[in-house]
Amino acid sequence: MEASEILRNHNLKKTSPRVAIIEALQSSPLPMGEDEISNLMGSHYDRTTFYRSALTLEDAGILHRIVIDKLLVKYALNEGQHHNAVRLNHAHFFCNHCQKLICLENIHPGPYRLPEGFQSQASEVIIKGLCSKCN
Ligand SMILES: [Zn+2]
Ligand SMILES: [Zn+2]
Repeated sequence: MEASEILRNHNLKKTSPRVAIIEALQSSPLPMGEDEISNLMGSHYDRTTFYRSALTLEDAGILHRIVIDKLLVKYALNEGQHHNAVRLNHAHFFCNHCQKLICLENIHPGPYRLPEGFQSQASEVIIKGLCSKCN
């Protein structure tokens, strides 16, 4: 789907940074970091606009953000080539060796059996280890 169509489907105005972020993410089979996205955005990139646009896209449900060890942040589209409508609540795999992050769309964290009176609102699962290439 074209970036402009995705934005329209989510009732968001088409701005060049939003389009550039979506297109950057569409170009990769893996979630990308800000450094990788900014390389592809070229002249559309500036830090503040990037954060603001990424947040808007996240709030609209267009992308999700994965934070690894509070340091490394990656972004991935919720739907598209690699996220065929299977989404949101899935586990991620982080390779300790090549630092690659992978969406495990078919692996769902939970539901967990919580103690009496507890209610889950979100759960994030990042499995760390070695990917098939590094193993
Ligand atoms: Zn690896
Ligand atoms: Zn994911």
